[in-house]
Amino acid sequence: MSLIYNFSAGPAMIPKDVLYQAQLELKNWNNLGCSVMEISHRTEDFYRVTVEAEQDLRDLLNISDNYKILFCQGGARGQFSAVPMNLLGKISKADYINSGYWSNSAFLESKKYCNTRSISIKKIQNNKSFLIKPSQWDISDISAYIHYCPNETIDGLSVYEEPNFKNKIIVGDFSSFILSRSIDVSKYGLIYAGAQKNIGPSGITIIIIRKDLIGHASKLCPSIFDYNIIYKHDSMFNTPPTFAWYLAGLVFKWLKKQGGIKNIEQLNKKKSDLLYQFIDQSDFYINNIDKQNRSQMNVVFHLINSKLNEKFLQESKKFGLCALKGHYIVGGMRASIYNAMPVEGVEKLVKFMLFFENKYG
Ligand SMILES: *Cc1c(COP(=O)(O)O)cnc(C)c1O
Repeated sequence: MSLIYNFSAGPAMIPKDVLYQAQLELKNWNNLGCSVMEISHRTEDFYRVTVEAEQDLRDLLNISDNYKILFCQGGARGQFSAVPMNLLGKISKADYINSGYWSNSAFLESKKYCNTRSISIKKIQNNKSFLIKPSQWDISDISAYIHYCPNETIDGLSVYEEPNFKNKIIVGDFSSFILSRSIDVSKYGLIYAGAQKNIGPSGITIIIIRKDLIGHASKLCPSIFDYNIIYKHDSMFNTPPTFAWYLAGLVFKWLKKQGGIKNIEQLNKKKSDLLYQFIDQSDFYINNIDKQNRSQMNVVFHLINSKLNEKFLQESKKFGLCALKGHYIVGGMRASIYNAMPVEGVEKLVKFMLFFENKYG
């Protein structure tokens, strides 16, 4: 089969080297004569997978001992409920920064648990969308936490400045942002991310939480979502998604081999610059997001002549580029270029876009 570049938004591309290794050891992992999927999560062999995955993630993001890392299930949407159930405590108020589809979804879910306030930061000026900077967010005096989403996977919008408010707990939905660039974990109370965008297969959710925020879950919080219970059981209160955990661990090792987040960050900038620069110089394609809020992970663009959308998708597929269709609520196209997407994939996409423009423009 010829080489395909996969621009899917999630579940998304996984590094080829990782898939190759998983294939090699699928039937006989660690010389056990069976796959990693077929052994107990309580074995010494699997325990080592979990310890190494955690340590590698700590190394990659420079996470201090003051933070615990939990591996759980239920996806990011599970955390839309788990966060209020664990963090509200006696203050039944929280601020939700609204920058697009996912942050709004988190807000809608949170309303089941408390009095939450939605703070819209998306503005339009000269036909361009932009997001109000964190330093100018209109936050409440009293709130248990401030929730935001640094990368809106569907809208293609990013907040790059890290929020910093005195004595406020910042919670971030990092599902499509985690490991794409370096961050200062100490600025956050809690970071969560579903794995299927920038880590590995779906089924596992990563939580990085400040130690003192564990142990305050409401009485009705299901045990599998109670951070204290998950922590006390080394993320094995119920049977974890062992294969997804193992694969996430391989991706962390792959990232370290690539030179860590510093290098990946540069590559991600290079890839997204290539694509945005091409779109900006063209009269055939458009992206109407202000430069400072353009997502480096999910590049959303439209063909000025939307009648050509179907043709674009058909021909791109023939070119070896798949899953470029935008989310239905935004329309147009979306190229998700997570860590696993090599620069060559983006170069090939630009080449195709130019070819298509010359043919139909
Ligand atoms: C994909 C995504 C979600 C939903 O993740 P699930 O694991 O399907 O619940 C939530 N937030 C963001 C930012 C996402 O990209």
